[in-house]
Amino acid sequence: MLPVDCPHPDAAETRRVCVHLLEALAPDGDVEFYQRFTGTGREFELRCAACHAGGGGADVPLRRLCERCCARVQEAGGVFGVLGVEGRPGVRERSPSRVRFVHERVALPTPVPDLATTLQPIGGSPACAFVALTRAGGFVRLDADRGVVEPLCHLSPDARVDLDKPVDLHVSPEGDLAAVANSHGQFGAVVHLTTGRLTMRLARDTYHIAHSRFPLAFFRRGDRTLLVHATAWNRLDISDADNGRRLTAREFVVRPPLRLPDHYLDYFHAGLAVSPDRRWIADNGWVWHPVGVVTSWSLADWIGGNVWESEDGPSKHALCHRSYFWDGPLCWVGDRTLAVWGYGTDDDWLLPAVRLFDVASGEETGWFPGPEKGEMLAAADAGTLLSFSGEQGTSVWDVATGDRLLHALDFRPHAYHPGAKRFVTLFPDGVLQRSTLSAMP
Ligand SMILES: [Zn+2]
Ligand SMILES: [Zn+2]
Repeated sequence: MLPVDCPHPDAAETRRVCVHLLEALAPDGDVEFYQRFTGTGREFELRCAACHAGGGGADVPLRRLCERCCARVQEAGGVFGVLGVEGRPGVRERSPSRVRFVHERVALPTPVPDLATTLQPIGGSPACAFVALTRAGGFVRLDADRGVVEPLCHLSPDARVDLDKPVDLHVSPEGDLAAVANSHGQFGAVVHLTTGRLTMRLARDTYHIAHSRFPLAFFRRGDRTLLVHATAWNRLDISDADNGRRLTAREFVVRPPLRLPDHYLDYFHAGLAVSPDRRWIADNGWVWHPVGVVTSWSLADWIGGNVWESEDGPSKHALCHRSYFWDGPLCWVGDRTLAVWGYGTDDDWLLPAVRLFDVASGEETGWFPGPEKGEMLAAADAGTLLSFSGEQGTSVWDVATGDRLLHALDFRPHAYHPGAKRFVTLFPDGVLQRSTLSAMP
């Protein structure tokens, strides 16, 4: 039992909060605070502006609360209640490490051409294969198991993709189709990778597209390949990727005297991610002022009957709000849990950390300090998160405890294949490296 000043001595962790914030919890109170991390794990204190200005000496009247009671204070403050964040939470290193990366190198017979996109895994197969688009407009397939690079088709000018600007590539789970669009542009297309035929044109309106990544995500349903894609800044649709047939046809109707139609959505869709079991989808978009809002809803319900599920369906949740920050790293860990990079509510003080959300309930289930800004996230399995970047190397995290299991600073891979559970690194001398996470004997 921990000594606490709230009625919950069964608390697993405690937080210290100044008495003025507890007084401000009254119905007409104004809860604004500084959050000060002590550097020990996730431990922090909340102080009102006066206590913060006083320098934080021993005379600050702090009370020790359980995590839930402290969360009540934070929720009362909301997005704008945080006046600032000081210090950093402490990363917990698991030592000695019980895992390591095993690397294998092969020389590619032909070098990988200059690429306009990152390597995108063909995710529906355990084979370690990727597709990318070259600067010259050709698609290539990198088979990392066999150590070969094979040319596929060329991107038709009819796709209206400008290769001199940033391009996003998405590959279907089967590897037969690719969706290509300018990351912040209006147009794109779905390409059949064997024939080069455009199976579908992609277009959205121009409203603030410079600030919204083109939303695209493939998924399989039965024997069909479907694509979620933007058709307007605040509208997504699902189409059959083989022929472009729209599966979520719906019409917004204005009923006077209302000015906005029923189901109107005031949200800029952006990067999308479909859960491994294809039942859920996450959206990394934003709303005015601007505030990034990660949302999720049931993909199964959306395609299963309610065409408005992506606007205001019963399964829709706003998971977290961050001023001036959206389209940051996120990934699924398991079928229902979304891992979202960044602790905090404002781009100015987002801390390097991962927050975990249960998309079925919309609740935050935990967080842990760790991955730095700019690191990509990927799940090795439901219990293990990987983070990697050119600056930070690669880290392995235990999702349940937040412990870092391994930090390989010199290991800077280019892509991760979730089916093969392998990293791939390309070296300038034409050597390809495959890397697998392995338990130590
Ligand atoms: Zn105070
Ligand atoms: Zn309590």
